[in-house]
Parts: sequence; C-alpha cells; structure tokens
Amino acid sequence: MTAALLDDFRAGVRDWCREHVPGDWRRAQTGVPDEEFAAFQKGWFQELRRAGYAVPHWPAEWGGGMSVPEQAVLHEELAAHDAPRLVLAFVSIHHAASTLLAAGTDAQRRRHLPAILDGEIWCQGFSEPDAGSDLAALRTSARRKGDAYIVNGQKCWASGAAHADWCLLLARTDPDAPKRRGISYFLMDMRTPGVDVRPTRQATGESHFCEIFLDDVAVPAANRIGPEHEGWRVAQETLGAERGMTMLELAERLGGGFRRLVGLCGETGALDDPVTRDRLAALETELTGLRALCAKLVAGERPGPADASIVKLFYSELLQRVTDFGTEIAGLSAHTDLRKPLSSGWESGAWPLDFVASWEWTIPGGTSEIQRTIIGERGLGLPREPGEGR
Ligand SMILES: Cc1cc2nc3c(=O)[nH]c(=O)nc-3n(C[C@H](O)[C@H](O)[C@H](O)COP(=O)(O)OP(=O)(O)OC[C@H]3O[C@@H](n4cnc5c(N)ncnc54)[C@H](O)[C@@H]3O)c2cc1C
Repeated sequence: MTAALLDDFRAGVRDWCREHVPGDWRRAQTGVPDEEFAAFQKGWFQELRRAGYAVPHWPAEWGGGMSVPEQAVLHEELAAHDAPRLVLAFVSIHHAASTLLAAGTDAQRRRHLPAILDGEIWCQGFSEPDAGSDLAALRTSARRKGDAYIVNGQKCWASGAAHADWCLLLARTDPDAPKRRGISYFLMDMRTPGVDVRPTRQATGESHFCEIFLDDVAVPAANRIGPEHEGWRVAQETLGAERGMTMLELAERLGGGFRRLVGLCGETGALDDPVTRDRLAALETELTGLRALCAKLVAGERPGPADASIVKLFYSELLQRVTDFGTEIAGLSAHTDLRKPLSSGWESGAWPLDFVASWEWTIPGGTSEIQRTIIGERGLGLPREPGEGR
C-alpha cells in the first residue's frame, strides 16, 4: 500500500473515531456491575464490526483482511481517540480465531468464526494448579467414550471464564505417553453439565480470572481440534497468537496511558519540575523503542526466534514503569478513589490499580523469567538451561 493510500485510510479511521467513540465511556464504565460491562463490550464490538474494524487481523474471507500497516494505523488511531478496548473479546478474536484458522476443520471454522463475530465469548483453559510455566505437566484427563470424551480435572487463571460461552481446553488423553505427546485439544461448550466456574478475587478487587472445575464433562469427539494426542502442537498456535500481533495494539494503548500521564503532570504542576520532565522524556524514548520493536516484529517476514519474547518482556516491564510513575504523580488522592473503568484493561488512569494490575502482565503467555530464558537460548545462542524434560 502506498503512503498516500495509507494516509487516506488513516483519515477515514479518524473520522469514524470522531463520530463513534463514546466520549463518556470511562466515567460510564466505572464501578458498573459485570453484566453492564459485558453488555457495553458486546455493543462496542458490534459497532467496530459494522465499520470493519473488529477483526482486522483475520483473513478477508472471514471479515478481516487488513494489511499489517493498516492494522498498525487502526490501533494507533483507536488509542489516540481513547476508544474502549475489546477486553472481553480478546481471547475470542485472537487466541480462539488463530487456533481455528490454523488447525480447525472447515466445519469448526464455519461454526465458530461467524459466532465470534456475533459476540460469542471464549476463554482459555490451559493452566492448572501444577501446570503453569510447565504447561505440559497438565493432569486434566479426557477419556474417550463412544462419540465423546469424558473430561475430569481443574483449570485455573482462565481470564474472563465467567462470561465465556466456549473454552479452548487442553486435556490429557494418553496418561502413559511422554508429557507433551499425550495431550489433546478441545473446543468445550461452557454450558455442558459438569462445568463449574468459580471467579478468583484479585488484588485489584476485580475477579477477572476464574477456576474451572470439570466433573465428568462430555465433550463431543467432533469438538477435538487437531489429531488425538497432538494437542501440544495445536497449543503452540494459540500461544503464538497470544505473544504476537496483540502487541501491536498493546503498545499503542500504552502510548495512550503515557499521554494521560503527561496530562496529569500538567494538571498537578509536576511538569515544572526538571526531574519529572527528564523521567517523562526517558519513558517516551522507551515507548518509541517499544513501537519500533513491534513494527519490526509484525513487518518481519521471518521474525527472529526470540523477537516476540523481547517485545513481550519490554512491554510488560515498561507498563510497570509508566504506571509506577503515574501512581507517584497522582499522589494521595489516587489512593482514596480506587475505582477504574472496566473496559480499559491495564491503562485505566486509576494509577495505583493500574500499577498493581501491571504485574499481572509479566506472567501470562510465559513469565518474564521464561522470556529471558528464551531470549538467552534462542536469541543469543547461550547454552540451554539444564532441567528435567528440557
Ligand atoms: C493476567 C493473566 C492472565 C492469564 N490468563 C490465562 C488464561 O486465560 N488461561 C490460562 O490457561 N492461563 C492463564 N493465565 C495463567 C498463566 O499462563 C500462568 O500463570 C503462567 O503460565 C505461569 O504459571 P504459574 O502461575 O503456575 O507459575 P509457575 O510456573 O509456578 O512459576 C512461578 C515462578 O517460577 C518461575 N519459573 C518457573 N519455571 C521456571 C524456569 N524453568 N526458569 C526460570 N524461572 C521459572 C516463573 O517465572 C515464576 O516467576 C493467566 C495469568 C495471568 C497473570
């Protein structure tokens, strides 16, 4: 796409944002009950869908088809106009869609991709109490019985599971095979009898994560995605989606958070302090670096083996530095009004809560320690870390 065409595209997105981004959503989404949050998120998703902006990263035949530069522009403009984030549909449009597109059958794609566009919500049931970083240690079992698998076990940390219609589920189908070989991947209807979702209260006061208890849950064999026992390979598609293009949006949103921080420094008079100005300049430089890294990652025909890990690590630690500074500048008053707009993700402007929540981001999709190991081994070619099963 030529620069002129991209400028036209940007102008169109800008006009659309001016007309459609709800101006008062931060206030209106602060302290609302869960159902109101879900209704707002679903409505906003449909608004974006009508404009062709909800799933820009999907193939054209399924309703997407934007080039990477167009996607970058779209996210830049949405962030610049402070549009609400698609917090509730995040797993559906990224993790679930990428997995279906890469490994699903035609029937599975035709069943689920249009339903996601119509508002179906997905969660991801990978982690278990003793299987996080060491995901292949998972013990939830799926035993074949006729046309179904009977699933028993427990999942934890499933984001948004309380709202979810479907779950991306990993379960062990062969207990005797080596760790990674006996796992299968299922699409599980969350309304199946035996599925019990229990929200987990977090340090921020929200209950975004859930435990999922599975007691003799019958999952039709037709809902297995990929071959039996080869779910580990399919899971790599899901994890790749989690670590890849999502960063394009998150980096722009962090830019939005930084602009709110600069605004706050202006309001409080902190901008008159040369030390504050220095620290803001340093953060802005880091943000520019993050955006450059993202651009390299998404534009690269063959990204380096550790590029996604570098971006994820840098993003999550920069998010902590920005929200930490915001907490400091916002001062005591920020600690007395601990409410945040639910549709904002980690950049709500309720600084102490954003700071606490920023630590979450160093964990999912591989913790910072795991990312550093990947960067060391695959990026720098350092000797592999010793350890069981490695
Ligand atoms: C915001 C958020 C959203 C999440 N969403 C989901 C979701 O939707 N679905 C889902 O299934 N899961 C989800 N998770 C769970 C997440 O994937 C796990 O928490 C993560 O994989 C880490 O596993 P763990 O918590 O068991 O920690 P552990 O693996 O027990 O790790 C504990 C500590 O030990 C370190 N460590 C472990 N192994 C090594 C090693 N080999 N080398 C160096 N250090 C090591 C870790 O880095 C960490 O600091 C989410 C978590 C968060 C915080």
